[in-house]
Amino acid sequence: MNHVDTMANPTSSSDVATPAETEKLIADVEAYCEEIRPIEEICYLEHQPNPAIGELALKYDLLGMPIPKRYGGRGIDSLTYAKMLARINQEGTGVRTFFSGHTSIGQYPILKYGTEEQKDRYLPASCRGECTLAFGLTEPDAGSNPLEGTCTWRREGDKIIMNGVKYLISNGSVADAVIVFAFAEGDEGPNRRMSAFIVDTAGDTFEAEALHAKPGMYTSDTAMFEMTDHPISGDNMLGAEGNGFRIAMHTLVSGRLSVASGCLGTIEDCLIECLRYAKEREQHGKPIGKHQLVQQHIARIEMMRATADAMIERAALAKEKSDAAPGDKTELANADYVVAQAKYWASNAAWEAVDRAVQVFGGRGWSELYRPFRHLQDVRVCRIYEGTDEIMQLKIASSLLGKEYAAFG
Ligand SMILES: Cc1cc2nc3c(=O)[nH]c(=O)nc-3n(C[C@H](O)[C@H](O)[C@H](O)COP(=O)(O)OP(=O)(O)OC[C@H]3O[C@@H](n4cnc5c(N)ncnc54)[C@H](O)[C@@H]3O)c2cc1C
Repeated sequence: MNHVDTMANPTSSSDVATPAETEKLIADVEAYCEEIRPIEEICYLEHQPNPAIGELALKYDLLGMPIPKRYGGRGIDSLTYAKMLARINQEGTGVRTFFSGHTSIGQYPILKYGTEEQKDRYLPASCRGECTLAFGLTEPDAGSNPLEGTCTWRREGDKIIMNGVKYLISNGSVADAVIVFAFAEGDEGPNRRMSAFIVDTAGDTFEAEALHAKPGMYTSDTAMFEMTDHPISGDNMLGAEGNGFRIAMHTLVSGRLSVASGCLGTIEDCLIECLRYAKEREQHGKPIGKHQLVQQHIARIEMMRATADAMIERAALAKEKSDAAPGDKTELANADYVVAQAKYWASNAAWEAVDRAVQVFGGRGWSELYRPFRHLQDVRVCRIYEGTDEIMQLKIASSLLGKEYAAFG
């Protein structure tokens, strides 16, 4: 079995999208967004899941945008993918989160750490809509520090047996397979090591439950699941035994970039909405866009957009460089650092932008009937998931101060 970073480095020209194919993908994403908007609108207002998120992604062949073509994906680069996630997130953070769960943190670790056999088994199926993916790191008592997790695995004959609970998992109750992190049964103490697995969810030993008590992102799935002596194929360890923490942290570089990109989409949509509304809505005898304090909100939203855009571009290029140099720790550390910056900045920029957009809409801003408030409800989680604001700041500061200053180690 080959557990090195065989990946996924889509350098073979037949794996990478040509300029014409990239243009086609951009058009497909636009068509996806236009078709999903009215459906998403209704599902959001009814607080219902939106099955069209995945169905239309299949229709427009968007289930493996950055995956090399040889595995059934479309082979676009990290920057184009970031831009596509921003465009998709204009339709809602929930819509984009589906893609993050499936591709950025679902397909990506398989591509990076999977054996050829695992890649052949999961990637084409996941691009064809036959295998929705998710990433299961968080547990009820292990969030910011996944090393406090209690999920376990053991070998039994030709099977691996999984036990434990994962909590707050995007796509967790709709996934056909989840990347799960767990410790060897009986392994105790500070030196125990986490391993990663591709866990097929079929069977009654895997019980998932969608979590509905959330203020926003109603249309996409957030779930918990419990594995009770859940058997998976003995071939489904992902990467080398004990390498799970590294795989998780590496995958989060991809996930955090997807969150940052999504936040850019939120800001972009707030700006579109505010520009339109500020010209239409009149008070004191003129469009509110002529009131300078309203202009101040618009200028701030634009500044949030422009700065987030620049940081995401820098981060996407760093990730692309790191992906092109598998095993290069310096490039990976740099990507990790600038992606953390982009995630921290963009999620806070989006939070400011949605707040200002709500203000521009006045009383209508405080209503799910209008887009700014939906974005406000949805985007707050981006300062929490895939690494909180606090963890991002610790990462940034300790990168500057030096490893010995890491607040936790
Ligand atoms: C909608 C949604 C979707 C999600 N999707 C996924 C998913 O697909 N897969 C997945 O694995 N997880 C997912 N998560 C989980 C998410 O990544 C965690 O919630 C997040 O990492 C924080 O963990 P926690 O909730 O346990 O908070 P905690 O870790 O308990 O943190 C609580 C507070 O303490 C702070 N804190 C913790 N440690 C430190 C420290 N050392 N220094 C300073 N402050 C600290 C945190 O920043 C936070 O403010 C999702 C969460 C949500 C809400």
